[in-house]
Amino acid sequence: MSDNAQRRTVHATSGALRAANRARVVQVLRRSGWATRSELTHHTGLSRATVSSVLGELAQRGLIAQRRQAGDGGKGRPPAQVALDTSAGTAIAVDIGVRHVAVAVGDLSHSVLAERWVDVPHDHTAASGTRIVLRSIEEAVEQAGIDADELVGAAVSIAAPVATDSGRLAVPGVLPGWNESTLADTVATRWGIPVVTENDANLGALGEAVARPPADGGDVLFVKVASRIGLGSARGTTIVRGRNGYAGEFGHVTARPGGEPCWCGRRGCLELYAGGDGMLRRLAGSGVAGSLAELVGNAHSSPAVRRVVDVGVAELARALTDVVVVLDPARVVLGGELTALGDLLVDPIRRELDALPFGPPTELSVSPFGERASLVGALTVVLTEPHRFADRSQAAALRSAPPPGPDPFRAPLTRPALRGVPS
Ligand SMILES: [Zn+2]
Repeated sequence: MSDNAQRRTVHATSGALRAANRARVVQVLRRSGWATRSELTHHTGLSRATVSSVLGELAQRGLIAQRRQAGDGGKGRPPAQVALDTSAGTAIAVDIGVRHVAVAVGDLSHSVLAERWVDVPHDHTAASGTRIVLRSIEEAVEQAGIDADELVGAAVSIAAPVATDSGRLAVPGVLPGWNESTLADTVATRWGIPVVTENDANLGALGEAVARPPADGGDVLFVKVASRIGLGSARGTTIVRGRNGYAGEFGHVTARPGGEPCWCGRRGCLELYAGGDGMLRRLAGSGVAGSLAELVGNAHSSPAVRRVVDVGVAELARALTDVVVVLDPARVVLGGELTALGDLLVDPIRRELDALPFGPPTELSVSPFGERASLVGALTVVLTEPHRFADRSQAAALRSAPPPGPDPFRAPLTRPALRGVPS
């Protein structure tokens, strides 16, 4: 080999190595949000000098933010933390519910920069919903003060089972207006970014599993208690979808055999009693609960509302305990609008779970993200998947990388803690 050829080989190798090291640092930063240099050294397996060199290179390109958090009163200054700067990339999350459309914009430090919530009629169509989503994204992007070319991707959460292959709704009629939705394609075309669609409860489970993984690596069950009832399960950080994407249709287990007919074609389904829509139907004309907010607001003061809530929660507690008997999860997390019921929702479920004779009681908590759980889960998908949603720091490295696999959720994720209070 000539000297020149050798020099070129060495040069190419060191360039590839630098790109690989940069990709490792960026991957850890995207999963953790903020990290100290020691944490980066530990999680990348790179030397401290290499980590410093990569951070220096990224800082030179204006892609690194640095902060030092207030001390906890102990000795010494807390170590500085670094994160990817907003200019490195931003993500869009969309949550389509039965009665709302929500949009959030977040950056790679896991800060939520802007958020928009719009109430929609129960029978809204995909056409009107899509218009609201597109307008809300425009407004959120403007409010966040970001450039459109900083966007790395979007994830859409939808309150219906999603076919694993196409990303379209798996069951026509669950969210009737959205049966033939092309929202993901529309957003992808409008903003020129990759977009994925996923079931809302699955995203809730993923968001919880990533933010606070169980110490034993077991399942996190996320139960969405809102207009309807949904359930998502994440084992480690992989969503359990079942064969066709229907896993977790918990709202349609039988609560009352031969009970009232459900829109799904079965009878006596759980969500007819425990879902907000079912509760509101029972209270129709009573003048005490015309919306989920009124239902929650009057649950303590109105005996009529309280009765309906207690009956629904009792059905939910029984059915959920059956699921826990079968799956033995590490943790059950409640999310969705009806978690605002507080003890009226949590206490009966806790009593049923605590009475199980198998092992120590299953940990039960209310998602700290509340009604934002699915939105946060959607943001988590984009922020933590550098191979699917390329940011500016890795653009050069990714051009030579193999194409990503078909499923963005399979790669193991570690622990970002989504921060940021929406304005
Ligand atoms: Zn049903």
